[in-house]
Amino acid sequence: MPEVTLTFDNGPEPDATPRVLDVLRGRGLRATFFVIGEKLLDPARRNLAERARAEGHWIGNHTWTHAGPLGLRRDAGHAEAEIGRTEDLLDGLAHGDRLFRPVGGGGRLGPHLLSEASLDLLAAGRHTVVTWSAVPGDWRDPDGWPDTALRQCLDAARSVLVLHDLPNGAMRHLDAFLDRLVASGATFTQHFPDSCILMRRGRAEPGLAAYVTPATEAGAASG
Ligand SMILES: [Zn+2]
Repeated sequence: MPEVTLTFDNGPEPDATPRVLDVLRGRGLRATFFVIGEKLLDPARRNLAERARAEGHWIGNHTWTHAGPLGLRRDAGHAEAEIGRTEDLLDGLAHGDRLFRPVGGGGRLGPHLLSEASLDLLAAGRHTVVTWSAVPGDWRDPDGWPDTALRQCLDAARSVLVLHDLPNGAMRHLDAFLDRLVASGATFTQHFPDSCILMRRGRAEPGLAAYVTPATEAGAASG
């Protein structure tokens, strides 16, 4: 039976997150919300993250600005500006494993996910770095994503599904999508499979290097 971990990225958003929380609460499901740091400066959005936490969801760090994959960043200080600053604001909200999800840039996996500087900060901060396996593209296909997501989740024994609590209408389909997933025999867990963990509490997992852009390449590319 396929087992699915639900994640919601890029929020919180007043016009999307409450609906997602209502749907999850109605079903007794728990997920992880990977939030964008700068959004939490808005008290309404901060309250939504607090509600999610109070309802048993896990809150993770998804960078301060979501401006692009960190492996492509050249600016000194980007690791602190994107990860450290967000983590400071997540004090009291973040899961104890200090979950961080890198920005993929369209859901892609590869060395663009992390820079060496961000890797150093994540290790020193004893973070747990979480990726994904199913990306149905709900941000660009707000009405068609459920078919794609269903196929992706049922094709694998274990998936980490990335959806977005963004106000584009996609989450109107969440409840019906979950109905279909359950009817297809899927079950849910809040935990992440080893295959989607690049670093655990600051310790590198095998294969991490494939997700890091070497500093020499970053330097060469900027020159
Ligand atoms: Zn994202």
